[in-house]
Amino acid sequence: MRGMGQITRATERGVLALFTRDVAHPASAVRLPSPVMKRLLIVEDNADLASGLRRNLEHEGHKVSVATPAADALLAVSREAPDLVVLDLGLPDRDGYHVVEQMRANGVQTPVLILSARGLESDKVKGFRLGADDYVTKPFGVVELMARIGAHLRRAARDEAPTTGGSLSDEVLTRQYGLTDRQTEVARLLARGMSNAEIAEALGLSTYTARNHTEQVLFKLGASTRARVGAILRGEA
Ligand code: CA
Repeated sequence: MRGMGQITRATERGVLALFTRDVAHPASAVRLPSPVMKRLLIVEDNADLASGLRRNLEHEGHKVSVATPAADALLAVSREAPDLVVLDLGLPDRDGYHVVEQMRANGVQTPVLILSARGLESDKVKGFRLGADDYVTKPFGVVELMARIGAHLRRAARDEAPTTGGSLSDEVLTRQYGLTDRQTEVARLLARGMSNAEIAEALGLSTYTARNHTEQVLFKLGASTRARVGAILRGEA
């Protein structure tokens, strides 16, 4: 009976064979319709798998970095603000679940695609419950993986696109400016010209708490005055 290590190695060889084929014949790869370069972070401790994935994504025109172990991955997420994270679960220091859990706890909404040999339904459910957006089991077809990544990037780009009247979406306020959900609500009310007392009333907060949120919103948006918040949210700043 083969041990788990052998199964994993065999799995990864299968994956590499797929990569090799697609790299050797790039015309066979599915090209993303969007020419916009995105930043991707691969968190994967198998160097061959990570570099194969990197080559495929760079071939699509993206900027790709690789981080491992989990502690480095979390640093890279905050430093590089990637548009998507491809996350392995079996990392040298911590479980990949820890990475997605920490990202979400930090308010980072970046799409996370888990790429793992763990194929049990309970593994997948745990990943989704912790905030992952997709779960692909190894071995995988590289064309399908590229298509899934493309779909997540397009969806994220749509979410970031200015909505009505050129206003910034909640997604942009969260990801680019680091506002929490509550601060996003406060920013919307500030943009409508509400005072701290009115914001406190509207959100069921103390005036003190509302003022703290307001100060955080001004700081994070780099707004010198309350009136500037409205301009920034309308995309005029
Ligand atoms: Ca691994």
